[in-house]
Amino acid sequence: MRVGLLSDIHANLVALEAVLASLGKVDALWVTGDTVGYGPDPGDTLALLRERGALLVQGNHDRAVATGEGLEFFHDRAAEAALLHQKWLSSEDRDALAALPTVATADRFTLCHGSLRDPLWEYVTTTRAATATLQLAATDHCCNGHTHIPAFFHLTVTGAKASHVAEGTAYGLEERTLVNAGSVGQPRDGDPRAAYAVLDTDARTVTFYRSPYQVAETQRRIHARGLPEMFADRLAFGV
Ligand code: ZN
Repeated sequence: MRVGLLSDIHANLVALEAVLASLGKVDALWVTGDTVGYGPDPGDTLALLRERGALLVQGNHDRAVATGEGLEFFHDRAAEAALLHQKWLSSEDRDALAALPTVATADRFTLCHGSLRDPLWEYVTTTRAATATLQLAATDHCCNGHTHIPAFFHLTVTGAKASHVAEGTAYGLEERTLVNAGSVGQPRDGDPRAAYAVLDTDARTVTFYRSPYQVAETQRRIHARGLPEMFADRLAFGV
């Protein structure tokens, strides 16, 4: 099975469309949270993923947009964007976001947004945090997001080890691993191209990719919809 692994799309429909085009044919799409928040097209992004039969877990932005929960932890402009999304989305879309699971299992993978210790909010940036999540997983592998930075950890007898993530390299999924595909809609690793990964469950590999997209078009839509400027500005730099 060939699986497109996406995360933190953040209502950036232009980036999502570019990623889906470069992905080509996949057997499944898994999305590790924050499908909405920040960007210009929350409703169309949700509709496209629904049409493609994607499996979604809930991120902190999805929860805040759907229910208002956690808004107090957002900086002002992130909260402003979340409240606009709440207003733009239909009640069906808000209910669907509210009903998303925070943890889901597919094949030999557990999906969550942050971590298995704290599915909505923990940033897994250290081997210590990665170890904790892998030890809690009932499956061999975990996929997460939230940091907006691609990452790959594998569990050894002495704990998780981090690998440098190189674009286009297939990494083996022989041991227990934690995969963060990075962010489709708001990358923060200094590379403005949309990030995603492909899991091959037969060959047991994960490969990380970047896809260029029309950043200027997303920026135009952010301005047109009256979202805070900073969400447009940062897209040019991938920060
Ligand atoms: Zn996010």
